[in-house]
Order: sequence, then C-alpha cells, then structure tokens
Amino acid sequence: MNNKQETQSSAPRRGNPLTGILWVVLIVLFLNGFVFPLFSPGRITTTDYGTFIERVDSGLVQEVMIKNGQIFFTARTDKGKTATFRTGAVDDPHLVDRLLDAKSPNENGKIAFTQIVPQENSPILNFILMWILPGMIFFLLWRQAGKSLQARMGGGGNFLSFGNSGARIYADSDVKTTFADVAGQDEAKEALTEIVDFLHSPEKYARIGASLPKGALLVGPPGTGKTLIARAVAGEARVPFFAMSGSEFVQMFVGMGAAKVRDLFKQAGEKAPCIIFIDEIDAIGKRRDTAFGGNDEREQTLNQLLTEMDGFDGRKGVVILAATNRPETLDKALLRPGRFDRRIQMELPDLEGRKAILQVHLAQVKHEAVDLSIVAQATAGSSGAELANIVNEAALRAVRQGRQRVTTSDLEESVETVLAGAQKKHAVLSLDEKRIVAYHEIGHALVAAMQTASAPVHKITIIPRTSGALGYTMQVDEGEQVLLSRENLFNRIATLAGGRSAEELVFKSITTGASNDIEQATKLARAMVTRFGMSDKYDMMGLETVNNAYLGGDNSLTCSSETAAQIDNEVLRIVKEAHEKARGILSGNREILDEAAAYLLQRETITGEEFMRIVRKHTAGA
Ligand code: ADP
Ligand code: MG
Ligand code: ZN
Repeated sequence: MNNKQETQSSAPRRGNPLTGILWVVLIVLFLNGFVFPLFSPGRITTTDYGTFIERVDSGLVQEVMIKNGQIFFTARTDKGKTATFRTGAVDDPHLVDRLLDAKSPNENGKIAFTQIVPQENSPILNFILMWILPGMIFFLLWRQAGKSLQARMGGGGNFLSFGNSGARIYADSDVKTTFADVAGQDEAKEALTEIVDFLHSPEKYARIGASLPKGALLVGPPGTGKTLIARAVAGEARVPFFAMSGSEFVQMFVGMGAAKVRDLFKQAGEKAPCIIFIDEIDAIGKRRDTAFGGNDEREQTLNQLLTEMDGFDGRKGVVILAATNRPETLDKALLRPGRFDRRIQMELPDLEGRKAILQVHLAQVKHEAVDLSIVAQATAGSSGAELANIVNEAALRAVRQGRQRVTTSDLEESVETVLAGAQKKHAVLSLDEKRIVAYHEIGHALVAAMQTASAPVHKITIIPRTSGALGYTMQVDEGEQVLLSRENLFNRIATLAGGRSAEELVFKSITTGASNDIEQATKLARAMVTRFGMSDKYDMMGLETVNNAYLGGDNSLTCSSETAAQIDNEVLRIVKEAHEKARGILSGNREILDEAAAYLLQRETITGEEFMRIVRKHTAGA
C-alpha cells in the first residue's frame, strides 16, 4: 500500500522563539533576586546589634541604611579605615533619636541614614509574574513534551487537542493502476465499473435521485488482488485515492483513532469525488463483543466510522472501499445497507485467470516465447500474488544464469521453487535411500496412471528440496476440475498411498518418507466424511464447519464426542481401503514399477511423457 501521510511535526522543534524569550526572562529574574546582591561592591562583615549601637555611640559610624529588615552601616575601624557591616534590624523606637544625636566622622558631623522601602511591584506585573508566566511556561513545556512524544510514536497530530488528529492524509491523486493491470477477476471488475462511472459523473445519478452504494467491501483470500483492484478503481475514475490500513487507526490513546477517522472523512469530503480505501478493515471492524470487555479504542474508532458513513451525503461522490480476508469477523453494523452493502468477492484465479495473471506480469520482464498453459496448469490453487512471485523468481533465475530473457524452463523451475522449495544441491543421500525414494515416487505415479479418474503425471524427480521433500511427483490437471466426485477423491487418496505401498512391496519395510502423504490422505478422507457427505454411514449429515475460509481454514466439529470417535473409524476405513487398492495396483504391475524406478534413479528427473512411455510399453503388450 502506498499511502503518503504527513505529520505536522516530524521532529520536535528545538528553536521555538517564544520559549527562548521565556528562558531569558527567567534567567534575568533569577539573577536579580538571588545572584546580584552577592556581587555588591566591598566586603560586608556581619556583626551584632550591640556592636552597631556601640559604634554609633562612639561616633564612628558614617552612614546607615535600613533595608529589608537588615541594617547596613559603614564605620571607621580601629585602624582608621572604613568598612561596611551588616546586622539584623531590631524593633528599637529610639534608634532614630540615637542616630540623630550621635556624632560622626562625616564633615557635617551627622550620620547619613536612610531606610529603603522595598519597592512594591504594580499589581498587574505581580499578576503576570505569579499567574500568567508560570502558566505559559507550563503550557509550552507540555506542548514540547507532547510533540516529541508524538514524533517518537510516529503518530501525527497535536497532543493537546483531541478534536482532530492533525494528521494530513495525502490523497494519491495520480494513481496509474488501471483495470488492465488486474487480470481475470471479471466479476469484480464488472461490479466496480458502476462505481467508476458514478465517480466520473455523479450528476447523472443525482439527477434521477439514485444514490450509489456508499461502500463496497472486497472480500477474498490473501493475494487475490483486493488492494490492487481498489487502486485500479481510483486509476480508472481518475479521482484522488485516500488509502489507509485498518491498523493505522488503532492508536495508543483512546479517541485518537476516532479523530483520525473524522479527519479522513473531512479531508475526503473536501476532495470529492474521491475514493477512501480502508485496507484490512478487520483490524477496526471486528465484531464488538461485550463478553470480554472489548477494546475501547477500537470500538470508538469503529463507532466513528459508522457515524461518518451514515453522516455523509452519498451523492457527493465519496466512495468507500474496504478490503478484508476475514469477512466473518466483521461487525454486523458495518454490513447493513447504507454502509458496506456491496460485497465484491475476489476468488483464487481459475486456469484462464492464472494464465492472464502470468501474462500481465510476464509483460514486465523480457522473455522468449513461453508456453504459459503448462505453468498455469501446474499452479492450481495459487493466488495472484504467488503467480507474480513465480514470474519474478523466473526472472531472477535467468539473471543468475547470465541470460537476457526468461524461458519456459525458468518458469517451470520457479513454480517448483515456489511450491516445493529450492533444490538442495548438496543433500547427501545414500544410494539405498535414493532407491527407496525412487520407488516411492514411482509408486505414486504408477497408481495415478493406472486409475482412470486421476490427473496425468507431469514430472517425477528425486532431487531433494529445501522444503524437506526428498522427491515428488507432479500431477497436472489439464482442465480445471470444479466438481470432484467421490471416485476422484478416493483415487487421490490411493495415489497418496502409492508411495508407501511401493516401499512395502519392494523393500518389505517402511520409512518416514510418507509422513506428508499420510497427512494429506487423512485430511481428504476426513473431509469426505464430515463435509462432503460421502460416507454411507453419515449420509448427508454435516459434521464439521470451516472457519476462516480465506486464511487456511480451521475446522471445528459440530457433533457429539461419540460421533467424533466414530468418524475416526470411518476415516480409517477409507484410508485403509485406498491403501489396499494402491498395493493391489502396484503388485499387479511390478515390472513397470521396477523398470520406471531404475530409470528414475539413473536420471533423477523424468517427465511424465518418459514415464508414460514405459507404462505404455508394458500395457500395450498385455
Ligand atoms: P490482496 O490485497 O488481495 O492480499 P494484493 O492486491 O496486495 O492482494 O496483491 C498482491 C500482488 O499480487 C499484486 O501487487 C499483484 O502484483 C499480484 N496480483 C494479485 N492479483 C492479481 C491479478 N488479478 N492480476 C494481476 N496481478 C495480481
Ligand atoms: Mg491487501
Ligand atoms: Zn510420497
């Protein structure tokens, strides 16, 4: 996602002029009050009041100054010099008389004496000093602290005002992506074309009084192009594109996310017609639940979003798109009419779709004439993102091998790299182990070849992969099979059992090499019983539901625990039956098994064609 966001203060500002002035004022006050008196000229000796009176009476004092409850006086010392003394003022009513009467070394024979009345500040100055100045200092310090905190947290905005987040959300007003960049997904494009048209000419719709759906929710597995198609809508309509991810709204302080939502809609309102896109909306749109107290910040943000969606005029030309791969977790309120009432399904691409996606991405790299159909066939179940990755891996492989153009073999190898991991060049397998792996793989291939309703073998290899696979048999369906029959599924399980069966038959012992086969076979058999109603025992009873369908899908049983135990028995029955079938096929075709395994052991990688030649040689003669 490519959204640009500007925060008002990217770093705490150091040289705020106002704070500078304040500091100067503070320093001056401080120096005035505490420091300057210390630097008064001459050294002052502290004495007691008695000494002072004594000096006065003996006519040695020249000058007296009373200030702030202290008496400063200069007097001749015994050595004939003049020194300054200080003593505390005592409440002495006779002091003035005494000073007037006393003799002095001054020329007029009188002591010069004054009292300095502490100067009262004007009330206004006092008020400023006591109330306003500290207030301002506090305010500025708080703001500074807030700003640096904000900058550190990476959030935008003003710490003091919760009214708006202060974040300037930049609209991308020049989106280059168009529908041409999105291959396949024709239904989604069709649904979105209307929105594009609406953004082009909102008046047309306004004239008749129609308001388009305010929001459309893009739903589908990861990597199917949801983010891509949302950008494409903006590119097609040539309108500004405000894009944010749901998680960007979830902030540290309660209320900040809501403020961001408010801001987003305000800014979008000013730029209408435009598109607001909220990616991964499940981050804020999760169902509000009361059972566990919930998350205050997230709920406030969601509430704000709901309010904004209700609040703005649908005819103005702001369209809200959102994407998620967990639609079932969304709050019902989001999905009701007037909000995200359109739901646009993005599915994993079918054969044609995969070909088209490969073409779109291949157009961006230099390539020779390549046969895409075989790559498309081999990538059943892959998402657009995975296909884009496969093309890129192929280009990287071409570069690695110092070639200028991508070839078909680059693509085929990169399919295997993406699906099974890279080749392990230096894996050390003993010859015995290699023999076992070769028989295991040919076991799979042969069982597949001997069954009618199973996909043809495309490639068999015993070069280990980084994923841990010691070898694999690649089966590629020619067409796209949408409906799978019970026979199809059962044959698949038998094919999966073929590897282990070959080991048993040839080596009379079994290895750990079948663990992945076992896992897959069990999963299939279980699904047949619990979800597809393919067991006689449970008929059409649904025993399991799938949660999170777009993210792998975890199953949860919906039956009693007694039934669960019986399901296990049923699954076991199917797996055993399939294993039996595989063993039967292999022992009936032992010569083919031996010959093909020897051939594979020698070549390490063989094509489906080479394998079928061996098979045909034997079956044609029979
Ligand atoms: P999602 O948001 O659904 O998880 P994205 O839109 O981010 O998926 O897709 C990731 C990448 O996969 C895209 O950038 C694009 O390169 C590629 N891709 C996915 N679907 C398609 C498609 N239908 N056509 C072309 N490229 C696609
Ligand atoms: Mg996305
Ligand atoms: Zn296997």
